[in-house]
Amino acid sequence: MITLYTPGTGFPDLEVKIAYGLARVGIEAYGRAERVVILPEAGYYIVKIEGDMEKLNYTFNFLCNRLLQSEYIFLSTPGIKRSGKIGEKGWNLLARENKSRQLNKYLRFSFFLQNRKEEPICNHNGEKVGIQIGFSACTSYHQSRDKIDIQKNKRGLRRPTSPKKLCKTCGLLAILGMWFASFIFNIRQKEVIVIPIPQNKITGEDLEKIFSLQHYLHKEYLPADIPSVLIPLAFLAKIPSTTEIFNKNFNLFIGLLVKQGQVYHVESTYLISIEDYLKFLENPYNIVSVDKMLQKGAFGALQELHKVVYYKNLPSLLSFPRLYVQETTTDSYVNLLYPDTARYLLEEVAMIKPEIIKNEAISSVARTLRYFVREKKYHYADNIRNARKDSKDLEETLVKMLREAELRKIQEDEKKKAGKEYRPVNIPSEKEIKELFQLANENFDEVKTALAILAFSFPAKREEIEKEIKEEV
Ligand SMILES: [Zn+2]
Repeated sequence: MITLYTPGTGFPDLEVKIAYGLARVGIEAYGRAERVVILPEAGYYIVKIEGDMEKLNYTFNFLCNRLLQSEYIFLSTPGIKRSGKIGEKGWNLLARENKSRQLNKYLRFSFFLQNRKEEPICNHNGEKVGIQIGFSACTSYHQSRDKIDIQKNKRGLRRPTSPKKLCKTCGLLAILGMWFASFIFNIRQKEVIVIPIPQNKITGEDLEKIFSLQHYLHKEYLPADIPSVLIPLAFLAKIPSTTEIFNKNFNLFIGLLVKQGQVYHVESTYLISIEDYLKFLENPYNIVSVDKMLQKGAFGALQELHKVVYYKNLPSLLSFPRLYVQETTTDSYVNLLYPDTARYLLEEVAMIKPEIIKNEAISSVARTLRYFVREKKYHYADNIRNARKDSKDLEETLVKMLREAELRKIQEDEKKKAGKEYRPVNIPSEKEIKELFQLANENFDEVKTALAILAFSFPAKREEIEKEIKEEV
């Protein structure tokens, strides 16, 4: 068993890319993913490979010569700048020169960085490559931020005050790793790089699953105008069996780059935990809900959902269902929330007692509210959503709604008699109304939240759906 150590550069995505690169060499060398394991340590990774160094070195050189010489790498890896023509001087990153490289330096674990000017950030000897602005996305090194750490040189050009270097082997491994276990895609003029960061031990098999998804993502597109903050949720919803592949073992590192001429400018990088997203996406109906919002460009709703899932934000919980319905509804069809999504919101986020969620009186009043929602008359549901405790808001809204419901029922019944399309109107019984007020007295917020969510959701039970939608005669 061989134990390899990543250099501890201090850049989380660079470290993991080097670890993925080493893992890939191990998998390619033996064709068996189960021989490779990655263990996250504080600031670096240990890569264990069942094999011998001679074979690993041979395979590394083979991969450099076969894979990394492709021009495709330059064209489609954001952050890597090509200067000069292929094979000419300046085309310095890739191993064109048929040189044999060794991975033996990763057998040692050493980080005694003194941060001297000439020291490469990986503290390895040997040939070094520059980390230019363009390369920063690949290494996460952005020392050339606007007007920070920059000085003018003799010719008046702005250069980083203390340009850092990386050894070439680390650079090549990072690219191998990036192409093995991360995702690169475009959203309009932005390039997005998503790198899974392991939190626990992962195996070569886990990495192969990630690798196999890359092809899939190229076919799927995220809408061009999606706000950056929604990219992780949208990305995870687009990946098949996402909860299986990105289990609790991973965080995601996300880098957004904008191409300016020939160079890339790093717009933002962030590292997020995805556990809450994955929990939400466990239910396939929730995935479909996200997909629907992406298709319809319902970003207002999706922003609220993100706040609900990620921050458990309660005001967003109340505004999400309303925005979802409004933004996914078409002229001819009022789209409601799936019962499974509503149940997630009620149980997992609002943590409402089951006796309230399942209460008949609440279901009955929600059914009447839903009649108006289907008519695109949202004001009763809105007034309930905004009702204040210790006021008559809830009571007054319900009285007004019931009065209108009675009138609507007469009209709908006439339509039915005349053989026209009609929509059944539910009128809650006096007993139900009484029970609801009683419940609201003791659990105001829960009752209000349940009504506000259920009013915008498809009913869960088959018979109830039939009770509500009987438009064809
Ligand atoms: Zn190095």
